[in-house]
Amino acid sequence: MLYDVCVVGAGTMGSSTAYHLSKKENLNVCLVGPGEPERKTEDREVFGCHYDEGRITRIISEAPTEQILAYQGTLSYPELERESSLNIFTEVGMAVIGPEGDAIVDGYVTTTDNFCEKEGLICEKVDENFIKDRWSYFLPCENCYGRFSKKFNGYISVRNLVKACQSVAEKNGVKRFFEVAKGITKKANGCYKVDLENGHAISSKKIVVACGSFTNFYNLLPGKKQLDLQLIGHTVLKFELDEEAVVKMADMPSMIYKPKLDASYIYILPPIKYPNGKTYLKIGHVVRPNFQYKDELGTPLETLSDVQKWYCQEDYPNARKYFKRHFKMMYPDVEPVSEELDFCVMALTTSGKQMIGFVEENFLVAAGGNGKSAKFGLQIGKICADSVVKGEWDCDLLDPEDFKVRFMDGEA
Ligand SMILES: Cc1cc2nc3c(=O)[nH]c(=O)nc-3n(C[C@H](O)[C@H](O)[C@H](O)COP(=O)(O)OP(=O)(O)OC[C@H]3O[C@@H](n4cnc5c(N)ncnc54)[C@H](O)[C@@H]3O)c2cc1C
Repeated sequence: MLYDVCVVGAGTMGSSTAYHLSKKENLNVCLVGPGEPERKTEDREVFGCHYDEGRITRIISEAPTEQILAYQGTLSYPELERESSLNIFTEVGMAVIGPEGDAIVDGYVTTTDNFCEKEGLICEKVDENFIKDRWSYFLPCENCYGRFSKKFNGYISVRNLVKACQSVAEKNGVKRFFEVAKGITKKANGCYKVDLENGHAISSKKIVVACGSFTNFYNLLPGKKQLDLQLIGHTVLKFELDEEAVVKMADMPSMIYKPKLDASYIYILPPIKYPNGKTYLKIGHVVRPNFQYKDELGTPLETLSDVQKWYCQEDYPNARKYFKRHFKMMYPDVEPVSEELDFCVMALTTSGKQMIGFVEENFLVAAGGNGKSAKFGLQIGKICADSVVKGEWDCDLLDPEDFKVRFMDGEA
């Protein structure tokens, strides 16, 4: 079988691309890559960022392009939810809060005010009194300020997003291969050969590679090129809540919060029920471009083995301590039942923007999630699907320059 498009990487961007391709007529499409493992073990080759129930989605943002991506993606969730019968988006709202005069919080406030005004959306000013009235269990720093907006803000289950895209795509005829791709080569006739770990190979006229943090391993890109990605081992701490706390905090939005006395910006996912029946509030820290990584929060990773080991870690005491300290300061009256660390790897680009583009004719890559692209996944998938079919960038709302693919050797 010769496929028209082979999508390599069945994660957030890849599964979304397969979903959008599956809606196009007369196209033979396949999606390559393993599903989520029951347990992360070191004998497994690759992992993904999509193994979680809670990823913040927000149009409260510093970057206008990201507001468009998030907004367009959010408009598409109802259709995908209907088609798959899976719940993806929960509109609990989003707040950005920090000490008065903080330049980064200022940036969020300005772009959000502009966007909400343009789109006719409500965006409320937040101060200490607002917080006392709405979220009395949350103790912010003194003289804090920020914004809260409900519409199009909250969180998505990225796990369900991926499952939904895959199930609809398969229903629409996309062929799924669960193997790891071990190399991609161009044949004399111009088609591509994708070698799978089981020794089989797939032939396809066009390729989309969306392998997240693993994109630079396994010789997937033409000419053994390497994307300009910095890999960062990231840790989050999930706090299990009892029934009383869950009820008390039921109106909690997703949040980005800057404590006064700490250099990091913290993100908080409100109480979310996980497949094990427990409800967790999750805390992580916002990774910004050129962030000087602190050992207490995570670490840069270089090799395939580094990345595999990071995903399979059992504990990271520094991060555990850091997040527990902040939880206690923000929620002094809430006593968690237990805590659970989770490990994941982020692929950062120098610009802080995602990369979506052709690396040669008929060969598109999407990578560089920068720790914030679950919310853009569905829309990035649409751009990839439309562009790979057209043979050039196909998204009038956004400028391809903003998503330019850059390589390790500095070439663009
Ligand atoms: C802890 C953490 C918290 C985050 N929080 C948020 C948040 O609140 N909001 C938000 O919007 N974003 C968040 N993100 C970021 C978001 O999850 C990622 O940016 C996004 O999921 C990346 O999508 P991707 O498709 O590039 O990669 P992934 O979703 O990781 O998918 C890559 C896929 O490729 C597969 N693969 C890799 N190599 C191969 C190969 N050789 N052959 C076949 N398959 C392969 C993997 O198995 C995986 O399924 C967070 C990320 C982390 C780590």
